[in-house]
Amino acid sequence: MRCLALDIGGTKIAAAIVKNGEVEQRQQIHTPRENVVEGMHQALEQLLTHYAGQFDYVAVASTGIINDGVLTALNPKNLGGLNQFPLKESIAKHTDKPIGLLNDAQAATYAEYQLQDSEKVSNFVFITVSTGVGGGVILNQQLQTGPKGIAGHIGHTLADPNGPICGCGRRGCVEAVAAGRAIEAVSSQWDDPCEPREVFERFRKNDEKATALIERSAKAIANLVANLVIGLDVQKVVIGGSVGLAEGYLPLVKRFLQDMPAVYSCDIESAKFGQDAGLIGAAYWVKDVLLDKPKGTIYG
Ligand SMILES: [Zn+2]
Repeated sequence: MRCLALDIGGTKIAAAIVKNGEVEQRQQIHTPRENVVEGMHQALEQLLTHYAGQFDYVAVASTGIINDGVLTALNPKNLGGLNQFPLKESIAKHTDKPIGLLNDAQAATYAEYQLQDSEKVSNFVFITVSTGVGGGVILNQQLQTGPKGIAGHIGHTLADPNGPICGCGRRGCVEAVAAGRAIEAVSSQWDDPCEPREVFERFRKNDEKATALIERSAKAIANLVANLVIGLDVQKVVIGGSVGLAEGYLPLVKRFLQDMPAVYSCDIESAKFGQDAGLIGAAYWVKDVLLDKPKGTIYG
């Protein structure tokens, strides 16, 4: 089965034909910034027309919350103000093939889970620490999307009740403490301001301020892992994203987790899929869950 996979992010939309996990004919366009609603309809029409006749189904991974085929945002700023966008309906105007949709971090989770031995690891979590903090949860070998598409938005669990206000409106979310944007919010206010990439360089040179800032982030992620382990009996966590994969970050998360009682411990690994995780994960998930399920079951 050939899948037209789309990955809709805050800055770019990637599209490709995916077959058996292999990505072909990949292209990338900018996410519309102005007239976002009309711009998104046009971008989807353009992509569907480009790949017409080459696919058996459509799988969409998108930033935000996918509820009943409609895209909404926890933080509307991330989508240039796009909110309550009828994503599935917009695509269905241009194809009569089956369409499945899910959140991009949920899709990446499903991609990473394909690399695990599902007999040994039935409860699994993926965390991406990047500009924001996203994730996905697999329980009993099933990706959790939830009745409203919200499941797995673990970047918006609490890290610090006295922490900064998060983009979602709540105070002290993990994202507001650990994400690249959270690191930048602090480092940009230093007497010698710098971007997150430079913060990591200073951290690797043992700069005190930079180390404290990176440790604050890694500690929030270690606590998130511990909460998931004790709440859901998670057996393995895979961490990705530009911050999560930065040199020296994962060892810190592991160290903070080791400082806790043993019951909180858990295998932690780096993510293996790069930029195509959303495309590949969406293609697998829609095929496995939407197309191989009995008729009448509705997802995404
Ligand atoms: Zn939040």
